Amino acid sequence: MNLDTYTLLKDLTGADAPSGYEKEAREVLAGYLKAAGELSTDKLGSLICRQQGSAVAPKIMLAAHMDEIGFMVKNITSGGFIKFLPLGGWFSQVLPAKRVKVKTARGPIPGVIGSKPPHLMTAGEQKKPLAMEDLFIDIGAGSRKEAERFGVRPGDPIVPVFEFTVLKNPDLLAGKAFDNRAGCAVLTKVLHKLKKEKHPNTVYGTATVQEEVGLRGAHTAAFEVAPDAAIILECRIANDFPGVDAQDIYSRMGKGPQITFHDPGMIPNRKFRDLVVKTAKEENIPCQIYAVNTGGTDAGVVHKSRSGVPSIVIGVPVRYFHSHAGILRRSDFEQVVSLVTEVVKRMDDAVVSGFTE
Ligand SMILES: [Zn+2]
Repeated sequence: MNLDTYTLLKDLTGADAPSGYEKEAREVLAGYLKAAGELSTDKLGSLICRQQGSAVAPKIMLAAHMDEIGFMVKNITSGGFIKFLPLGGWFSQVLPAKRVKVKTARGPIPGVIGSKPPHLMTAGEQKKPLAMEDLFIDIGAGSRKEAERFGVRPGDPIVPVFEFTVLKNPDLLAGKAFDNRAGCAVLTKVLHKLKKEKHPNTVYGTATVQEEVGLRGAHTAAFEVAPDAAIILECRIANDFPGVDAQDIYSRMGKGPQITFHDPGMIPNRKFRDLVVKTAKEENIPCQIYAVNTGGTDAGVVHKSRSGVPSIVIGVPVRYFHSHAGILRRSDFEQVVSLVTEVVKRMDDAVVSGFTE
């Protein structure tokens, strides 16, 4: 199997799978994961890959959400324009003039997000951010009837379009849906590595659904797996760009895995956190502490499932969250793969029981 990072990221980000419509991502992932363990799904659609190491216990959940932010057709205007609902946390300012694809039952249809040009705005309108409700998608239909003839129906998912791009410095990649197909790619590589190396536990690699609309898939998947500990694989914000004061830059690309010490959704188990930091040190993997008061991950519900699950979030730094195009560094990605693999290899029964003693 070709697990080359470029191919893997291109394949996974190429799947069109907004929250609630994860089928394409699940199928691409299943193709990669079927050789790494036994596959199953829960009833919301999360994919679980069970890989037993040299022991049945402890059960380690590695979770990455596979949904991306997108939209859904709300209605079609009499003139043939599509009004839409956001799926996930979009900021309206990043949307005008962007390419999208409407995924109809009869196949994808290209479209462009339209909005009023400045010439037609009042002075007041020019100063205000656009309201999401004022945006629409133009698919080139002349009427509602024609849009329906194209196959468009209310409820059809809509996805951003951005070609996967290797930048001039080939360590930097630009693409859509890095949040969180990069996490899914980490999951894939780690499971394949662990299959070849020894691990004293059973790993449940889990690709969750509907994270972007409120961590919904993680809720049921964590119940299904009932893990003893969980590592959430995510992308987290790199804010090393113009407009952020040097003193306010808390996370950079090229500085390695981000280990979350705090976000509004979870404070990690202290001993688990220390194990991750110690492992990074022992393996000479650079890492950065990620402590913020904004954003959250599947860990927010996984750590509160059943009677509590010691959890940690390990992230790949990504710039330009929740827009058509993110940028990440391949070297950061590879270091996350190495760190997660090494941590899992240290998680035997004694170590994991020790987290909660
Ligand atoms: Zn995410």
